[in-house]
Amino acid sequence: MNAATTAADVSVPLGEDFPEIRDSVRRICADFPGAYWRDLDQREAYPTEFVKALTDAGYLAALIPEQYGGAELPLRAAGVVLEECHAAGCYAAAAHAQMYTMGSVLRHGSPEQKAKYLPRIASGELRLQAFGVTEPTTGTDTTKLKTRAVRDGDHYIVNGQKVWTSRAFQSDLMLLLVRTTPLDQIKKKTEGLSVFLVDIRECLGKGLEIRPLKAMINHNTTEVFFDNMRVPAENLIGGEGKGFRCILDGMNAERILVSHESIGDARWFIRTASKYANERIVFDRPIGQNQGIQFPLARAYAEMQAADLMLRKAAALFQAGLPCGEDANLAKLLSSDAAWHAAEACMQTHGGFGYAREYDVERRWREARIQQIAPVSTNLILAYVGEHVLGMPRSY
Ligand SMILES: Cc1cc2nc3c(=O)[nH]c(=O)nc-3n(C[C@H](O)[C@H](O)[C@H](O)COP(=O)(O)OP(=O)(O)OC[C@H]3O[C@@H](n4cnc5c(N)ncnc54)[C@H](O)[C@@H]3O)c2cc1C
Repeated sequence: MNAATTAADVSVPLGEDFPEIRDSVRRICADFPGAYWRDLDQREAYPTEFVKALTDAGYLAALIPEQYGGAELPLRAAGVVLEECHAAGCYAAAAHAQMYTMGSVLRHGSPEQKAKYLPRIASGELRLQAFGVTEPTTGTDTTKLKTRAVRDGDHYIVNGQKVWTSRAFQSDLMLLLVRTTPLDQIKKKTEGLSVFLVDIRECLGKGLEIRPLKAMINHNTTEVFFDNMRVPAENLIGGEGKGFRCILDGMNAERILVSHESIGDARWFIRTASKYANERIVFDRPIGQNQGIQFPLARAYAEMQAADLMLRKAAALFQAGLPCGEDANLAKLLSSDAAWHAAEACMQTHGGFGYAREYDVERRWREARIQQIAPVSTNLILAYVGEHVLGMPRSY
């Protein structure tokens, strides 16, 4: 945190900040070209080697304090890592949860929990890639989730189901949000929820079942079923009934980080499309000479630059310890829109070849679309702005 006390004191870096990190990430990404990702996509396989390279370089421990073996970098630096991966055509979303899911342990864990888990998460020995919040019947209405944990001596017994739990098969630990006090016994619906750090390796086959969920993109996502799964009470993070705050606290950081991925995507689409527009000759001239091709790319570039500025502002406010809910949400909205518009322009620029797998455009187009829906849908961001920024009635 710097010495700034108001937003007026905060300055925003322009241009290529953290150049050494950018260079280093670009070098790592050069070993993982399109063919690597196409092959994984075809096999619906996890990018184990890529995630290992990021882990070995210390980047997935970017936000873990030095005392626990992490790099203790600013949030912006961690975002730059993700952005450069996506700008290079890699898919860091496969690993990003390792960066921020541990934030709940860091902010709300006991000293014993931090000492037990954070150094091993920092070294990559323990993978904390899975985050179980969404449920099939309640979706966005998180506080209505139905998975229940009931205390039984020094354990809790968990019953219920999660959906879209990404990377549960590739993770040792799962951060799990459950209800510990029924809705009809609490005053506010955000009360009575609790967070557990579940040791997937211990629980698998003992009340925990994970099933792959086939999806439009290779996101290694799953359905997770709990049938009397026993979790030690010592794995409760942040106290019983305090789980919603535990998760909510990390939302601004999460939004800022994933926005960097969208900016990276937009950079890839615009670069790839501009190159193709110069090279592809139809009617005896480069297609980029046609305004119908050129202008959507120019507009996408303008949108990306504007979103990038908002993102830099959000990250700077976050780092200064100042309120940044509005800015983090706006950055998420604008960057995911910029990425999607760039994806559309890139697809259109490539014509039929946009559909050919070897160009990577269709895969990256599918991947960019997710940011309109997860980890938070665009409507929920607009609802936040309408209510918390513009002061209109709560719409849900
Ligand atoms: C590939 C992928 C990976 C994911 N990974 C994870 C993960 O690791 N962990 C996890 O917990 N979840 C994960 N999710 C789930 C994701 O966070 C949810 O899909 C998302 O939050 C939306 O929930 P839903 O799908 O149930 O949509 P619903 O809640 O059913 O909503 C459907 C649509 O209605 C809109 N809507 C609903 N209510 C309102 C309202 N009041 N006002 C305006 N619009 C509204 C929504 O915005 C959305 O567009 C993942 C999803 C996908 C697709």
